[in-house]
Amino acid sequence: MGTIADRPLRVLLLGGTTEASAVAHKMADDPVFAGTLSLAGRTTNPATSPIPVRIGGFGGTDGLAQYLAVNRIDVVIDATHPFAAQISANAIAACTETGVPLLAILRPPWTPVEGDDWTSFESVERAISAIGVAPGIVFSGLGRLSLAALGTAPQHHYVVRVIDPPEAPLALPNVTVIAARGPFHTEDEIELFQKHGIELVLSKNSGGDAAYGKIAAARRLGLKVFMIDRPPIPKRATVGSSDEAMAWLRAHSSPRIERGV
Ligand code: NAP
Repeated sequence: MGTIADRPLRVLLLGGTTEASAVAHKMADDPVFAGTLSLAGRTTNPATSPIPVRIGGFGGTDGLAQYLAVNRIDVVIDATHPFAAQISANAIAACTETGVPLLAILRPPWTPVEGDDWTSFESVERAISAIGVAPGIVFSGLGRLSLAALGTAPQHHYVVRVIDPPEAPLALPNVTVIAARGPFHTEDEIELFQKHGIELVLSKNSGGDAAYGKIAAARRLGLKVFMIDRPPIPKRATVGSSDEAMAWLRAHSSPRIERGV
């Protein structure tokens, strides 16, 4: 028979997104929660966090399940990026195995509006091979992990935006690298595209406001967008915003039975 827990709810917050930051700030203001933000460690200067941070992979599903047990985590919030399919699948498996409740925050995808000229692709590789043989001037907002794929079509001039400047020169004959962290505003994106003579925009369908400027700019300038669709992720409980996640957390923080006691 368990006892009623009278300590803060231990929350593992899988992050790396604006939504994760928002949940971290909301939890930090409330003594009912003891949250830890987990980052993969991909960026050198992550935004400062108001709650404790752990950095680096867990070691697959087994490592994550072990982390949940050792740290006696009560609930997991998966607020990773919609394209971070591996950690999301691992969270589902580890939470199922350990019986820890899991909630994902998944921002709605962007949908085309009047004036957009999108072509959808299931992968970055397919989008790049569809650009064609004639050299073009292409903006890549795909992120650092997709840079290698650009090398399969080296005839184009790429304007590549990444958060951290690359440590070594990119293996691309024609490339301009811009190191910058969002949010990016439409007017600034228009100026950037005009300055570089951009003809085509490569984008993941990330959703949200912070990265939408390039999509609105492409529409205003009449540019094509090659849009990469989101990877499939197994079914899990999902909400669309940090506020909904906080409501879920509050419901789980009300008097509860201590597990394993
Ligand atoms: P991924 O392919 O789903 O994950 C690869 C591995 O990285 C995972 O198996 C896990 O290692 C580790 N990992 C990923 N997210 C983690 C986290 N929050 N905390 C601890 N370990 C994590 O992920 P990804 O696409 O490389 O994304 C990495 C991070 O960047 C995520 O936090 C994501 O939210 C953020 N991000 C990704 C994108 C994107 O386009 N993919 C865009 C913006 C931000 P182990 O198996 O060893 O546990």
